[in-house]
Amino acid sequence: MHVLVLGAGAAGLAAARRLHAAGVTVQVVEARHRIGGRIWTDETFAPFPVEYGAEFIHGEHAATHALAAAARIETIPIDRYGRLRWSDGGPACALDALPVARRTLIAALFQAFDRLRDMSLDVPDRSLADYLRNNGFDDEALHVADVLLAQTCCAPVETLSCADLSHELRVDHAGKREYRLRPGYAPLLAWYAGGLDIRFGAAARVVRRAPGGVMVETDAGVFHADCCIVTIPAAVLQRGVPQFDPPLSASKQWAIHALRVEAATKLLYCFDEPMWDADLTFMAHTGLAARWWPAAHAARDAAVIIAYATAERARTLDALDEAEAIAIGLRELQTLLGRDDLAQRCVAARRVAWSADPFAYGGYAHVPPGAAVARRLLAMPEGATLFFAGEATAYDSNPQTVHGAIESGWRAAGEALESYSSSTQIFR
Ligand SMILES: Cc1cc2nc3c(=O)[nH]c(=O)nc-3n(C[C@H](O)[C@H](O)[C@H](O)COP(=O)(O)OP(=O)(O)OC[C@H]3O[C@@H](n4cnc5c(N)ncnc54)[C@H](O)[C@@H]3O)c2cc1C
Repeated sequence: MHVLVLGAGAAGLAAARRLHAAGVTVQVVEARHRIGGRIWTDETFAPFPVEYGAEFIHGEHAATHALAAAARIETIPIDRYGRLRWSDGGPACALDALPVARRTLIAALFQAFDRLRDMSLDVPDRSLADYLRNNGFDDEALHVADVLLAQTCCAPVETLSCADLSHELRVDHAGKREYRLRPGYAPLLAWYAGGLDIRFGAAARVVRRAPGGVMVETDAGVFHADCCIVTIPAAVLQRGVPQFDPPLSASKQWAIHALRVEAATKLLYCFDEPMWDADLTFMAHTGLAARWWPAAHAARDAAVIIAYATAERARTLDALDEAEAIAIGLRELQTLLGRDDLAQRCVAARRVAWSADPFAYGGYAHVPPGAAVARRLLAMPEGATLFFAGEATAYDSNPQTVHGAIESGWRAAGEALESYSSSTQIFR
């Protein structure tokens, strides 16, 4: 059996690794000149690794932990939400130092979100915003919810499907605690990709299905195989890349276009020394650069802080000159930290805008109200030759995460193996 895997991100590597372990001939075809996709550990911005894409492991039971243990890579627990600092204009404060009304509101929003798990799936789907309004939250509360609940999902609070969120909460098996990989994600991926046959600079343009297999035309030549696992991000598929011949089924095309992928942007700042106290793990406010955390994992005195914005906030930051976006973030950071010397102390800054990336075109996919079946439809095989993986297909896990992408790769590899073994049994 010979399988092509399109994409060397977390999902593609996981699929390829599983097939390789099963004795299958597998070739990975990757558009970029590196592995990782939306995982991108940079070694140049600071004297230690900094994540331009995925940064945390979401959950104490996430599949990533077992891989990190096998690769002998240390993970460090990070308490972000438990030590959240919030600002309504001045320096960000721990929750217990906030006015009672604000503290109560934030707690009530998290509780309302958790209650989605028990929501009846028989009622018509609605947005997270509508659900919160129906639970008595006003417009001001929705601004806070947008930052604390929706920004992390790379979506506006108005277009997040409650049915999809509820389903994810029910099938979640990763848990709530968060971790970092001490050396960043890169060494884990390098270990995971070890020994795999990966062709770089090979953006797939056309995937042709014919009796007996697939033929994939790429920028680096034509590849043939018995079947193909597609892990290309939803926003790339939405742009008709690659082209499928014959076209994908109507339900697959519906699923691809039903998903939404919003912008996701990081602003990174390196200072001559940490400008914050050692206990800081997470700050948020309703500004443009809404969510902040220090990258203090590789070294205790790591003086890098990262703002992460998604959806409309990220689009606004992306539309500015990089210098202007960085200046706005720095001004907001001065307020959050209660300092006025950050510009003089900043030694490097940069913006990483995933919406401008031609192999991602945004952050990660979310599901709008009424389209909760989209992830499952996107994941379904097309006959015995095309299988689908990637974070957007992780309907039985946590989409929008690295471990969800990994599990989707394992699922698709299992489907390909099963399909091949049942077809060979028929001909025996
Ligand atoms: C800014 C940001 C922060 C994040 N933070 C976290 C986090 O803290 N924790 C977490 O768990 N998750 C996080 N995520 C989500 C996580 O990064 C993704 O869910 C996961 O990495 C997706 O893996 P994937 O394999 O599905 O897709 P990708 O990583 O995008 O892999 C797809 C691969 O396909 C390649 N490709 C694209 N087009 C073609 C083509 N035509 N031909 C061949 N190859 C092609 C791409 O180059 C890429 O390598 C974050 C994402 C972003 C953008």
